[in-house]
Amino acid sequence: MLIFHMDFNFASLRYEFVKELLDKVASLGYDSILWELENQVRWDSCPECAHPDSWSKAQFRELLDYSRKLNLEPIPLLQTIGHGEYVMMHERYHSFREHPDYSDCYCVSNPEVRKFLRKWIAEYCELFGDLKYFHLGGDEAYRFGSCNECSKRERNELYGEHINFLAADLQAKDIRPGIWGDMILADPDNLDSISRDFIVWDWDYCTGVGNPKTVRIWGRSDVSKETLTPELLTLFPELIASNGELNPFYTSDVLKNRGYDVILCSAVRSYSDGHFCPNIPVHAPNIVGAAAKCRDSKLLGHCVTSWAIRLNPVAAGLPLLALPSLAASSSKISLEDLKEQSAIKYFGFAGGLDAAAQLSSCDNRLRILSAVQWSGLKDSRPAPPNHLAAWIERWIADKDHYWINKDEMFASMRDSTQKGLSALAPYADEWPTAALWKRAGILQLRYIELLQTVFSTNPDIDQLRRHLLEFKMEIADYFGAEQTPDSAARNANLILDPLLDYLKNEK
Ligand SMILES: [Zn+2]
Repeated sequence: MLIFHMDFNFASLRYEFVKELLDKVASLGYDSILWELENQVRWDSCPECAHPDSWSKAQFRELLDYSRKLNLEPIPLLQTIGHGEYVMMHERYHSFREHPDYSDCYCVSNPEVRKFLRKWIAEYCELFGDLKYFHLGGDEAYRFGSCNECSKRERNELYGEHINFLAADLQAKDIRPGIWGDMILADPDNLDSISRDFIVWDWDYCTGVGNPKTVRIWGRSDVSKETLTPELLTLFPELIASNGELNPFYTSDVLKNRGYDVILCSAVRSYSDGHFCPNIPVHAPNIVGAAAKCRDSKLLGHCVTSWAIRLNPVAAGLPLLALPSLAASSSKISLEDLKEQSAIKYFGFAGGLDAAAQLSSCDNRLRILSAVQWSGLKDSRPAPPNHLAAWIERWIADKDHYWINKDEMFASMRDSTQKGLSALAPYADEWPTAALWKRAGILQLRYIELLQTVFSTNPDIDQLRRHLLEFKMEIADYFGAEQTPDSAARNANLILDPLLDYLKNEK
């Protein structure tokens, strides 16, 4: 299986754009869509969570029909442990929270939670019709098992009891349930409470091509070959590859050896990205490496995830989304060959992806200057007043390197963006992907220039405020090519409002 992840968390995509995107991914060899709909559909089970741009069930059913005609198998994803922010932010569901102060994690010992989720799963099944697979989520539930009731239990036992209960109705309909792999891998001694009927969606957005220098151990610190302990090697003998080096995507081997079917998940948009374009130096090797791993270890499938919370346009990632089918055409092609093939197809010249990669330098280091995920939760609430001022105060007090070296960071991001732009510009008239990246580059240069002015001594505040407001409109217009006007404006606010708020204090 080759699966594309259609995510609506944080961004409401325009209906027509979704259809175009379905056409594109089908033409790139994808055969399934993982639908992370969240509040994009108006659900009877959770009417409060719908936003103004949500679709009716009839509208979504038309999209489903459309995707099925393209031979794209639909797989719904409903988060049933963590990432319930869009539900539990509403007062009616506050009693479902594992911790009263955090909207993300359900208390799985609460019988009302199970009743609520079970009913919602039934509503999903009714809307989706014939299904082969259903993803019950369950990743990044950092507060899972922490309340008075839940903390009396062994973690995987509690986790297993909850998802086995929710999966029972699916299994009765011959639908195979799935969960993300990170939580259960943090407790590998006690995997047996998770039924082997579950497909584990094993996500790893960092590992690339070849043997990695470090690997992630879920629930612990990353390790290198030098810092591997005998205890870890006993727990995960799969950590070492046959050549004696660290084994890339070893978690898929761990899960497979323990009897699970595995879908390995790479990313085209994830944590390392900036606001305007995906991080090519991270994602290209990750996608190609995952494709090779799926083939070599005969895994059930490869899912390329695309996290909407990273905001940058899905279309900018098309040259990356093309990599799995290019990789499938031969087992001997190198990452550089694949990048060249994709670049010729999308940018009109072999160096297109390397030029675009220069723009990726304007990466997640700038996120802290925005309100995107300011609370650490996956919601799109605006930051409170003085949010940025408080950070800066802390950085100054701590003599933080980020703050001390920011001018150097801005300068290097600007230089790199400029180099990439010069290489891409000649192709922008003829090649839409080059034009999109050109626009990303121009926005980035302007963004960096504005940040430099905001943090300069004695800026002209009135003029700067005007420029920031104009720039906010430009970002909303940029995102608006894919997102609804409301969604694009909300996300542009998240990027610019903390800066406007900071200037208010400066006067
Ligand atoms: Zn609990």
